[in-house]
Amino acid sequence: MDKNEKAANKVKIQHVIKALERRNMASYYCEDSQEAVAKALEMIPEGAKVACGGSMTLAEAGLKEALKEGEYDFTDPFSFLDAEKSMEARRQALLSDVFVTSANAVTLDGEIVNIDGTGNRMAAVIFGPKKVIFIVGVNKLVLSEKDAVDRIKNDACSPNCIRLNKKTPCALTGKCGNCLSRGNTVCCHTVTTRFSSIDDRMHVILVNEKLGY
Ligand code: SF4
Repeated sequence: MDKNEKAANKVKIQHVIKALERRNMASYYCEDSQEAVAKALEMIPEGAKVACGGSMTLAEAGLKEALKEGEYDFTDPFSFLDAEKSMEARRQALLSDVFVTSANAVTLDGEIVNIDGTGNRMAAVIFGPKKVIFIVGVNKLVLSEKDAVDRIKNDACSPNCIRLNKKTPCALTGKCGNCLSRGNTVCCHTVTTRFSSIDDRMHVILVNEKLGY
């Protein structure tokens, strides 16, 4: 990313920060993923029960590794090879002190838009964990809710389905076919978070670099 693009992205992120604050969601600007991980860790007390949603961003940024190595009671439900154990860890994540995740898209007006397959990530964002921390790369910022869904279905789902070995139209053709295929579709729940009704619960770390899909 050249310096002008970086500067333009910074302006955009600062605009989104103001929009998120109006929605009772604390938000922070970070120059890169290293700074973002440090910011997230600053908000997590030692000994806290921490869980995460499925996310390429968290792995790429290095937050999962930092949580594993730190003094936290951290569970990554996606580290279990056994499907039953993974599902149980996703249920237990709803009782965590802190839930860390990314978002599929954030509008310039501060709405957080996610599309989930199983729905465990959305369930934890909506209710359960005392604190939710999002790490979001600048590539996830979009103009509107409609653009958010378009981005998720036409840009994010295709590489995600290829990663998960799903036989979906987006994985096979690069274009969403609005599939309804049991065991394949990853688009079961579309959730827009437009306000936090609980103070000091939602925290959004916006990073001026490309992270995740
Ligand atoms: S609905 Fe199906 S084809 Fe469309 S993006 Fe989702 S998984 Fe891919």
